[in-house]
Amino acid sequence: MKASLPPNQAVKGIGIGTRKVAGPLHFYKSQAVPRPTASEGCDPHAQTLRLKSALEQAREQIGMLHRRALAEVGQTEAQIFEIHAMLLEDEELTLAMEDALHEGASAEQAVERAARETSEALLALGDPYLSARAADVKDVADRILLNLSGSHKDPAAPSPDTPYILVARDLTPSQTMSLEKDHILGFVTLEGTPNSHTSILARAMGIPALVGVGQLDEGYEGSLALLDAAQGTLILAPNEQTLAEFRQRVERENEIAREHDRYLRTLLNKPAVTRSGKRILIYANVGDEAEAKAAMVNGADGIGLLRSEFLYLSRDRYPTEEELVAAYDAILSKMQGKRTVIRTLDIGADKRIAYFDLPEEVNPALGFRAVRLCLAREALFKTQLRAILRASAKGTISVMLPMIVSVEEVRRCRDLLEECKEELSREQIPFDSKIEFGIMVETPAAALMSRELAEEVDFFSVGTNDLTQYTLAIDRQNPKVASLGERNAEPVLRLVELAANAIHARGGWIGVCGEMAADLRLTQRLLDMGVDELSVSPPYLLGVREKVTECK
Ligand code: PEP
Ligand code: MG
Repeated sequence: MKASLPPNQAVKGIGIGTRKVAGPLHFYKSQAVPRPTASEGCDPHAQTLRLKSALEQAREQIGMLHRRALAEVGQTEAQIFEIHAMLLEDEELTLAMEDALHEGASAEQAVERAARETSEALLALGDPYLSARAADVKDVADRILLNLSGSHKDPAAPSPDTPYILVARDLTPSQTMSLEKDHILGFVTLEGTPNSHTSILARAMGIPALVGVGQLDEGYEGSLALLDAAQGTLILAPNEQTLAEFRQRVERENEIAREHDRYLRTLLNKPAVTRSGKRILIYANVGDEAEAKAAMVNGADGIGLLRSEFLYLSRDRYPTEEELVAAYDAILSKMQGKRTVIRTLDIGADKRIAYFDLPEEVNPALGFRAVRLCLAREALFKTQLRAILRASAKGTISVMLPMIVSVEEVRRCRDLLEECKEELSREQIPFDSKIEFGIMVETPAAALMSRELAEEVDFFSVGTNDLTQYTLAIDRQNPKVASLGERNAEPVLRLVELAANAIHARGGWIGVCGEMAADLRLTQRLLDMGVDELSVSPPYLLGVREKVTECK
C-alpha cells in the first residue's frame, strides 16, 4: 500500500451473496487489445485470409471456454459462450466485416468497425438485455483483434498463489472463465451490475462479490480488505479494532451457518414427508456427471431432469450412439439405482448449436425446437432413444419428451421408441422393456389437454420456466418482464393443478422441474396442487427437503 493511502476507508457497492471475507486485494490486469491503425488500401484477399484464420481460432477458443464453463459453473452460465459462438456466425456482423474489407480496410479495421456499428445499434435500443449483448460483441471483437495480432492468451494472467480478493474494472465472460479460481476469496468490480458476468459467476461459485464500487486506488494492491456482501461494503486497510470486530461477526455468522448446515445434513437420507404424512420425492436437475455426483452428495432421491442437451452442446459434431450410452452409463454409475429421468433433446429457441444448421427464426421460442425438431429428424431422434434404452438396462431410467402440445406428437414419439425397442431386441441388445415414458408439461396446450395426454404416458413433469413464459406471454430471456412472472404464479399453479388431477386419475405421478420447484415461497402451494415430486438443482436439494417437512 502506498504510504499516502488512508487506512480504514469504507467503499460502497452492490453486494452479491451474503458472506463476509477478509483478504489481500489483487488488481486484475487485462490484456491490452491492440487498436488498429489507419491503413486503407489493403489487399482484400490477403486480409480476408487473415480474418478467416482469426475467426477460426476464435471458434476454437470459445468452444474451449464453453466446455470449461459447463464444467465449472453449469449450463445456464455457459450459455453466454453459445451466444459468443453465434455472434461469430452472425450474418450482419459478417457482412459488415466483408463490406469493410472490400473497401480496402485491414482485417483489424473491419472487425473494429463492424463491432462498433453493431454495438451502437444495440445500445441505441436502450434495453438492458440488449446492452449486455453489446458487451458480448465487444468481448468477441477483442478476441478476434488479439488473434489477429498473434498475442491472444486465454490462460489466466499471473495471480497470487495465496487467497486474495480480485479487483477488476469489470470482467468479461472470457476473462471470468480464464481465471484460475482456486485462490479467489471474493470479487470487487468498479463497474458491473447484479446481472453482470462477474455477479453470475460469483453466485454460481458461492463467492461473495461487490460490484459497481466506482473507483479504487491501485495503491491498495496487496493490502488487507474486508468484504461484506450483505452490507455491500469493502473496508480498505482496516485498523486493528475494525478487523477484530469483523472477525467476530464472521465467526458468529459461520457458527449459525454451520448449525443450519448440520441440521440440513440430518435430513440427508430421510424421506421428505409433509406434516400430513405425504411422501414427496426430492429430485435433482442435472446437466452432466459432475452435477449428478453433487445431486447424490446432497441426498437427491433421484434425477428428475437430465438435460441431455449438454452432450450436444459440448461437442462440435453430433455425438454417436456409443458416446451417448457411455455418458448415460457414467451418470447412472453415480445413481445407486435411483430413478433418472432423461429428457430427450431440447435444442432450438435459446439453445443453439452451429452444427445443427438450424434456420434463423423470427420467434425462436415459438419455433422449430425440442420434440418438433426431433420428429423432423428421425435419425437424430432414434440415436437418442436407442442410447436411452440401452442405458436403461443398467439403471432405473425414465424417458421424457419436452415441449409437447398434442397427443399426436406423443404417439409419434412412442411409435419411434417402440421401433427402437424392436431393433434392439433383434440385435439382442438388452434394455428395460417397461421403461417409464413421460412428458413435460411446459406449454398451456399440454396442461389444457392433460386429460387426453395422461392416457398416453406414465408421468408428467411441469417445466414452469417455459410454462410461465408461454402462459404469461413473457420472454424468459428478457429481464425487463421477469418480475411479471414472479408476481403472477397463480395462472401457472392452476395449470399445474389441472395436470395433476388428470395424471392422478390415471394412476400416474407428477413432478415440477422448472425453477418454481426451488422457490420455497411456493412449495406449499405446489403441494396443495397435488405435486408428488420436486426437481431442483443440487445446491437447493436440502433446503427444499427441509421446507417440505414443514408443509401441511
Ligand atoms: C422448464 O421449461 O421449466 C424446464 C425445466 O426446461 P428448460 O429450462 O430446460 O427449458
Ligand atoms: Mg423448458
